[in-house]
Amino acid sequence: MSRVYNFSAGPSMLPEAVLSRAAAEMLDYEGSGQSVMEMSHRSKTYQSIIDGCSSLLRDVMQIPDDYEVLFLQGGASTQFAMVPLNLAKNGKADFVLTGQWAKKAYSEAQKLLGDGARAVASSADKTFSYIPALDPAAFHPDADYFHICLNNTIYGTKFPTLPDTGSVPLVADVSSCILSEPLDVSRFGLLYAGAQKNMGPAGLTVVIVRKDLIGEPREGTPTMLSYKTHADNGSMYNTPPCYAIYICKLVLQWLKEDIGGLEAMKAINEQKAALLYDYLDQSRMFKGTVEKGSRSLMNIPFVTGNEELDARFVKAAAAAGFVNLKGHRTVGGMRASIYNAMPVEGVEKLVAFMEKFEQENA
Ligand SMILES: *Cc1c(COP(=O)(O)O)cnc(C)c1O
Repeated sequence: MSRVYNFSAGPSMLPEAVLSRAAAEMLDYEGSGQSVMEMSHRSKTYQSIIDGCSSLLRDVMQIPDDYEVLFLQGGASTQFAMVPLNLAKNGKADFVLTGQWAKKAYSEAQKLLGDGARAVASSADKTFSYIPALDPAAFHPDADYFHICLNNTIYGTKFPTLPDTGSVPLVADVSSCILSEPLDVSRFGLLYAGAQKNMGPAGLTVVIVRKDLIGEPREGTPTMLSYKTHADNGSMYNTPPCYAIYICKLVLQWLKEDIGGLEAMKAINEQKAALLYDYLDQSRMFKGTVEKGSRSLMNIPFVTGNEELDARFVKAAAAAGFVNLKGHRTVGGMRASIYNAMPVEGVEKLVAFMEKFEQENA
């Protein structure tokens, strides 16, 4: 068997231990005589899987008791609408525009709130290559929430510090950084993430929301788009994404038992990111595209400055077993997404490959 190093921005690599265990349990989950995929979501066995996933997430992320954990579907993209539908009681929200996903969250809120959705800062002037300085005087104290995308998957930036929004709940899209390092959940009103970057397979969306923010949604909100519906029904109002939740549980178990939790995960992720950034900083061929103070731990875009050379590199890398290094179409060049499941060895080998490519093509 030969597995590639997959640098995709998502769906992305899963820990091999998780895949092996899922394979071993595929035909007969813990003596039930069936696969988790075939099981009734109302069965006792499945209840213990979803409960286990929820309590492991609470444990690993140290989620305070006054927060609800919801397992939903529709991706992070559905949250762009669900957040305003449920939180914008007075029809007002602030947005920081730091990339494609932040912009999508903003424009979806504009559909519902019109001028009530307000952009307070943007880094569009330099292709989102930095996190803009935030002036709290520009924030609207009457906002129902303040939205950021904590890690910008496409542009490779991450907020170095969290904005102080006072009593306005901070809402963050954490799709591409959740579980990569410890996060103080109590600083947020709501966190959401599509699972397919750091938590498991596509099809599961995790929402962590302060309980007092779950209430009646805006008038006309469909039942399925109300947080209250899912909170009141233990994320089982309808059939949940059963198998994705099961894999997420295995990932959390791996993170807790094999890795040793989020502090340990952070140290490994910092080691991986430093390997690549240090190389980029001294390379004469490859250059990182992001300002140093805004660099992501998970997504690292870089370019040679020559599109033809970029394309040649991406092709040669794929042939050598380093796949999905092509950058997003709006940035060009390359992007290495090095989520939790990417082993240190994968980044070491990529850097060695880049050094060799640089020598041979200088
Ligand atoms: C991948 C991603 C999304 C989109 O997620 P879907 O689950 O495909 O809707 C949104 N925001 C961020 C930050 C992402 O990385």
